[in-house]
Amino acid sequence: MEGFTAVFLILLAASVALQAWLRWRQLSYVRAHRETVPEAFRDDVSADAHRKAADYTMAKTRLGLVSLGFGAIVLLIWTLGGGLDLADRLWRGEIDSDLTRGVAVVLSVLFAGGILDLPLSIYATFGLEQRFGFNRTTPWVFATDLVKSTLLGLAIGVPLVFAILWIMTAAGDLWWIDAWAVWMAFALVQTWAYPRLIAPLFNRFTPLADESLRERVDRLGRATGFAIKDVFVMDGSRRTAHGNAYLTGFGAAKRIVFFDTLIAALHADEVEAVLAHELGHYKLRHVAKKLGAAAIVSAAGWALLGWLSGTPWFYSGLGVSTPSPYMALLLFVMVGPLAAVFLRPILSHVSRRYEFEADDFAKRFSDARALASGLVKLYRDNANTLTPDPVYSAFYHTHPPPALRIRHLAGAA
Ligand SMILES: [Zn+2]
Repeated sequence: MEGFTAVFLILLAASVALQAWLRWRQLSYVRAHRETVPEAFRDDVSADAHRKAADYTMAKTRLGLVSLGFGAIVLLIWTLGGGLDLADRLWRGEIDSDLTRGVAVVLSVLFAGGILDLPLSIYATFGLEQRFGFNRTTPWVFATDLVKSTLLGLAIGVPLVFAILWIMTAAGDLWWIDAWAVWMAFALVQTWAYPRLIAPLFNRFTPLADESLRERVDRLGRATGFAIKDVFVMDGSRRTAHGNAYLTGFGAAKRIVFFDTLIAALHADEVEAVLAHELGHYKLRHVAKKLGAAAIVSAAGWALLGWLSGTPWFYSGLGVSTPSPYMALLLFVMVGPLAAVFLRPILSHVSRRYEFEADDFAKRFSDARALASGLVKLYRDNANTLTPDPVYSAFYHTHPPPALRIRHLAGAA
């Protein structure tokens, strides 16, 4: 066996074993705490709702185990099993131009990957979410979403992959710097285009009609120094009963989107407090810092690919017989996440610190008790477990465990 094949197999085994162990911990912890609502939540969360949250969390965790194993098998088939080689051979018979063939191979492999993931995604929506009463998606909406996102993927993917592959062949040894610049430009354009052009393809956005809520939003905007231009309500209920809110926009001009399910579930003062928390992420520069970190990490990723793509063992060690820029790109996209898993706890840790800071910000500009009661409602209605395994949570969760977060909001208000 080649040395790099051994490295790959060890990395795969370590990554799968670690993630399986964490899911197993989560399963047993949630099961052990299924019957007892934690002290702090007894007034607001019934024993039934707590059991439902436990069952929902366990069902999702089990599905996560299946998808982890399935993903590992698919990865082995693509690489050592010769799947990528086969795709390359099939297109070699059809297309002579390296560049055009590269685009065809990359997109067809990604497309095949999407098809392979489809059964699990259908089960997640119509099996799991349905069973717990969260699914609002009809087969028709699911199918049209799929067609729309595939077409969108092609419209964005063809020029992007074409540009990257062209740079990889034409830009010399330091091509990865140019590729990184294109990638960052693409990310910026996407940030601008997503709320304006892409999201409206999937959901309806209507200006917030509730006058008193709009007044609260404007008052909060003035107090925190944001010029809030547009406030939209999105028909999230078209697909799911889960509630959410998000903000987009550059600089001080912000566009706010509330899911209709959030507005329906929370009181106006709770919605205001949730918004204050979200504005806190901007005011405290969390969003800018996350973007900066993403830029640095992706530069490192492109540099690594720049080096790996020039080494023969990167291809042969992963089951690819003919090196090419597009194979380097595909291998990197497929194998890179195995290593990235080990960075996850660092990201989660930073993100949880930001959540506490945004909660402190919300305390200053709105009502901490309203934020706490709003969060408890969201935990309850979304069937978020109140008792995650501490190790699992430290590894994966971008938000603090409910008990800690509520205690933090209650203290030093
Ligand atoms: Zn947050």
